[in-house]
Amino acid sequence: MKTISVVAPMYNEESLVHAYCEQMLMIADSLKDKYEFEIILVNDGSRDSTYTKMLEEHEAHPDNIAIVCLTRNFGLEGAVSAGLRSATGDAVIVMDADLQDPPSLLPEMIQKWEAGADVVTGSRIRRSNDGFFKKAGAGFYYKVLGSLSGKVKLEKSAANFRLLSRKACDMILALPEVNSVFRVEVPFIGMKTDVVEYDRDKRYAGKTKYNLKSMIPYALDSITGISVEPLRRIWLLQIIPLLLFIGSVAGLIISDELRSAWLVLLFASILTGVLLIAVCVVAEYIGQIMIEVKGRPTSLIYEYKPCKNTKTGSKGN
Ligand code: UDP
Ligand code: MG
Repeated sequence: MKTISVVAPMYNEESLVHAYCEQMLMIADSLKDKYEFEIILVNDGSRDSTYTKMLEEHEAHPDNIAIVCLTRNFGLEGAVSAGLRSATGDAVIVMDADLQDPPSLLPEMIQKWEAGADVVTGSRIRRSNDGFFKKAGAGFYYKVLGSLSGKVKLEKSAANFRLLSRKACDMILALPEVNSVFRVEVPFIGMKTDVVEYDRDKRYAGKTKYNLKSMIPYALDSITGISVEPLRRIWLLQIIPLLLFIGSVAGLIISDELRSAWLVLLFASILTGVLLIAVCVVAEYIGQIMIEVKGRPTSLIYEYKPCKNTKTGSKGN
């Protein structure tokens, strides 16, 4: 029988460990004639009782619930990567634990995988439950990312809700980078991809870990992870001070009015701003080079508790 691994990263999610497991076990039960389920709960350094709750679920459902406990909070990407490294299934599904990625879609994703897709992507056609700033921020992020991705085809509004065949999962794990952003790595590997569309539900319980401020470093990691286009296009910024420069020179030649002096001042300050932006873009890439050169792991596993459906040979690291 084929095994499906489901990876769910959790950080301070005590209020939804049980609800998540309950829903996933229902899905596992409805498909039990065809598939075995390995549901991997990744504890990403939670400070509340998430881990205790995970242990309770593991003890109550030793066939299906496996646990990966990280040494500290590494962030969503580190948690996803630890889950992928521990997964032993023929297909691996990554999903948020807050039930915003509906478990009811799993049978359709599995069906598309069985029909030949190596990657099945969850695409959020509506985000009716997200606030204005989150929606606007996400819209801008996907637009920028899409315009920089070159030959890598990004699916619209696709985040971490994905199914990967064993082959696709192994390819992702073999990518050497430290700055691993799952949502840009999956389209990078290519392979036959299918899509399931869904309306993003409200969070079942607890609070989001991402506000607009914490999304900025994440967005920068994705951009530097997918493209060097910002470095190539940065020269375009000089167009604004150049126009102002021409304006000020023309102004000074035509008249010696005070207005022209203001234009010169404006030119100087905009030029400084543009230079600073250019330095920041370069610095961002230098920072990424440093991270890659150090070569530290994206996350460290403190404890790994497989379930009975875990295939033997799992490294759990
Ligand atoms: N998460 C995590 N580590 C973190 C932050 C978040 O494992 O440092 C998990 C979180 O528990 C959830 C998923 O990542 O299962 C998505 O987080 P969240 O729901 O807060 O993001 P949003 O859906 O609001 O973008
Ligand atoms: Mg969420």
